[in-house]
Amino acid sequence: MSLTTDPKDKDLGHGVDTKVVPQQKKYLVLSQEELDKGFVRPVRTTYVHDVCGDETKVNITIAETYARNPKFYGSTYCISCGMHLHVSEFRWSKDNEVVGS
Ligand SMILES: [Zn+2]
Repeated sequence: MSLTTDPKDKDLGHGVDTKVVPQQKKYLVLSQEELDKGFVRPVRTTYVHDVCGDETKVNITIAETYARNPKFYGSTYCISCGMHLHVSEFRWSKDNEVVGS
């Protein structure tokens, strides 16, 4: 798994999954310049999937991208379910806030 700031990168995936898949080759993140403008949420690195109750740890730059722009991602990966699912199914472990809100 690696990161890119290019929304047109061909290794990016989109949307939710209906079957088990590996993580995407690349995930889109905001540039350092954009992250440096400041976070509007705390930086949180683990979330719990409401459906299975399991925790997934996220890459720090993805965590910072969520902190800068909580609506940046529409779906996110559950390591136990092995799928990208809508962010509203997940809560940050630290404070129980719904991911993407
Ligand atoms: Zn799950």
